[in-house]
Amino acid sequence: MNAQAASVAEVWSWLGEVADPEIPVISVVDLGIVRDVAFDGDACVVTITPTYSGCPAMQVIAESVEQALHVHGLRDVRLVTQLSPAWTTDWMSEAGKAALKGYGIAPPAQQVIDISGLHAGVKRRAAPPLVVSCPNCGSQHTQLTSQFGSTPCKALYKCLDCREPFDYFKCH
Ligand SMILES: [Zn+2]
Repeated sequence: MNAQAASVAEVWSWLGEVADPEIPVISVVDLGIVRDVAFDGDACVVTITPTYSGCPAMQVIAESVEQALHVHGLRDVRLVTQLSPAWTTDWMSEAGKAALKGYGIAPPAQQVIDISGLHAGVKRRAAPPLVVSCPNCGSQHTQLTSQFGSTPCKALYKCLDCREPFDYFKCH
């Protein structure tokens, strides 16, 4: 199949089936990291903004995107990484946030924790207080127990009401 046989809308729907490697219930489209789909001659150009620069999952995501489009017959797939403007959790779709919650991960709250200092190993900036709702019982009576959950993109919280520990998606 050449590029003319596929439409941009089709490519978006195919990308909607590409799961995030760390959170299989959410697609890369719902995660909000796919910025643009365009055709350049026969090449399909997909622009992606990583959740944060150096996110270890990016390579896997790039390969999954390429593979998914190859499966649908697009031979020439070009991935462009766009770092600016930076991804924010606001780009995540409502469906994505709901899927996260169903998976037992608290969706991002309004405020994003600044973890740049943690990554660079330089001075640590104090995180603003943030209200994270428990995905199990909805209580806002929760406590941060670790800056790092099962992956660097998540923090570990504990609900003080139902006592369940849960991951909070903090990627920025
Ligand atoms: Zn709870």
